[in-house]
Amino acid sequence: MCSHDPILPEPVAEDRFVAMVSAKAEVDLRLSDFAPCSQLKAAVHAIEKPRFPVIDYHNHLDSLDPRAVLRIMDACDVERIVNITMQTGEAALATIGRFHHAAPERFASIGWMDWSGIDRSDFIQLSLDRLERLAEHGVCGIKFWKDLGLTVRDGSGELLRIDDERLAPLFDKAAELKIAVMFHTADPDAFFTPIDRFNERYEELAAHPEWSFHGSPVSKSALLAQRDRVIARHPRTTFVCAHMAESSENLRYVAGLLDSHPNLSVDISARAAELGRQPYTARHFFLQYADRIVFGTDLLPEIGMYRLYYRFLETADEYFEYPSHASRQGRWNIYGIYLPDEVLRKVYRENALRLLNLGGTDVRPPAAPAERSSAATDTAHPAG
Ligand SMILES: [Zn+2]
Repeated sequence: MCSHDPILPEPVAEDRFVAMVSAKAEVDLRLSDFAPCSQLKAAVHAIEKPRFPVIDYHNHLDSLDPRAVLRIMDACDVERIVNITMQTGEAALATIGRFHHAAPERFASIGWMDWSGIDRSDFIQLSLDRLERLAEHGVCGIKFWKDLGLTVRDGSGELLRIDDERLAPLFDKAAELKIAVMFHTADPDAFFTPIDRFNERYEELAAHPEWSFHGSPVSKSALLAQRDRVIARHPRTTFVCAHMAESSENLRYVAGLLDSHPNLSVDISARAAELGRQPYTARHFFLQYADRIVFGTDLLPEIGMYRLYYRFLETADEYFEYPSHASRQGRWNIYGIYLPDEVLRKVYRENALRLLNLGGTDVRPPAAPAERSSAATDTAHPAG
């Protein structure tokens, strides 16, 4: 239950104090015009360069000029961006080639699952061939987007489940090809609730009503359960769940998921808003799972955007804006989580290198679950 009305005791007589604390106004200021300026005089640490080189493991660059992107990357010490192409077929291969050719050391690619031809009887073989082709062109992963489970239908018109056994050969093939499987399954919790005055992402959903899955035939928890079953079924396959496994509102659940599946990592892309509004829990989570979290942004490469991510991860600054798309994610601000150097180094770069097969032959996290809790020690003090 989400209620904003306090329950006050019934006053026995007219009371100026009760009148004061119970006064409310009905206002007609448009929500879109409301732009309060914080009067908080808190420390501001503008982080121009990250403390360690950064790999942006989750971005979409298809329409951008690699040279223009490189200028931003150089300005923000971004060593490498993983472009998750949203194209398929020949267009995808051309885009992958364009970026790899422009700067092979600076760009990597993740392919996009191609559902065209799903009504064909040989669709799985076709998909295995497509996967091989992508791997030949140097992709480091294949992405299964939220359409799987929500809208993709098989040849008979049935909604295709994420854990449909027919897809199993694809996840095994990824392991064989040594490429990661990225899942973006479902979306924030608020996208599954009505777009009304109680929705914490009201303005975002008002700008993008098509992002709402309220009333969808499959619940969010059912979608995540299907996804989690696939991760459990394919222990040899490396999985990355984008956007904090779509569960940044519930980091206890993400912790349980990581504990159960050593073959899983999560990326933080597009979730600074969620993580930064729960800084104590988020910081603890990052220290605990430092080997399993990869940096990513999922926003157009811009200097200011990267600097906000760095400020969130590196400083103890309070109550500042989060990096976001234009419609924002919710009406709140965030707090920095001042990660210690050994955690920053892993989250910014080393964990991603392992996923890109550039960190040695073992793509698995180095620490076993039992050792992990003592691996990251909480030694850092708030910055400045
Ligand atoms: Zn994305």
